[in-house]
Formats: sequence, C-alpha cells, structure tokens
Amino acid sequence: MTGAETLYYLDAARTEDQRAYMSSLEERGICIFCEEHVAEHQEHPVEHRGEFWYITRNAYPYAGTVAHYLIVPRTHVASFDELPDAAGAELWSLQRLLKDRHAPLATATVMRSGDMRYNGGSVAHLHAHFVILDDAPSATVKFKVSA
Ligand SMILES: [Zn+2]
Repeated sequence: MTGAETLYYLDAARTEDQRAYMSSLEERGICIFCEEHVAEHQEHPVEHRGEFWYITRNAYPYAGTVAHYLIVPRTHVASFDELPDAAGAELWSLQRLLKDRHAPLATATVMRSGDMRYNGGSVAHLHAHFVILDDAPSATVKFKVSA
C-alpha cells in the first residue's frame, strides 16, 4: 500500500451493503484489488493477466452498461503515474482485447487516480472501468469523478 492512509473511502459507497462490506475489509486490512485477494473477495475471477494489469468484471456493474470490466494494476498503486509508460501501452492493448470480444457500438474508460477523497473513487488501488455500450441503455451510464 502506497500513498494512501486507508484502503476504502466509505463516503463513496453506493449502497449500505457496499459500505458495510468496505468497512469490514478496511478493518481487516484487505484490499480487494490486490491480486492475492481476488479469489476470496471478488465475485468474478481474473479473466486475463498481462504483465502490468489483470482484467475482471465489476461486481457492481453500472446501470446501462452491456458489460462492465475492471482493468486493475497487478501492484498496489493509487495513481497512474506510479506505473511505467509500458503499462499504459498494455492498457491500450487490453481495451482492444475487450472491444474485440464484444464488437460494441461504443465503449468508455474511466480511471480515477490519486487521492480517493477527491477523485470520486471508493478503493485506493488504481483501476480502470471499461464499459461496453449499446444504442438502447436502460439508463444513461454515469461516473462520479470528483469530491
Ligand atoms: Zn491493492
């Protein structure tokens, strides 16, 4: 763990159940995005591993998405610039892999970085949301990206 005092920002939880779960993990010092905790603490398995990132599906997919992936660094970092430029190149190739899987009309990528009290995030461990979009979403997909 680097840079952050805590693993979770409880005020960013979207439901009471999520908040209680995050609070319990914080107490136990468990970061759900650190690879060694994925099997036990994430609903979906790692689907792909690269050198710098792994891919899983979001346990809380946003309304209106066809599919909602998380592309997560294999080391615990809070900010994109803690990773080398080569990680940026790999991220691009992983997004291409997911795009090719779905052949969607459109996609969107959101990566909150830095202090989660100010970036709208709930987990200190950096991750990119990659969502697959179509022409008739059940709701407009929205990401909160600030305090
Ligand atoms: Zn972590």
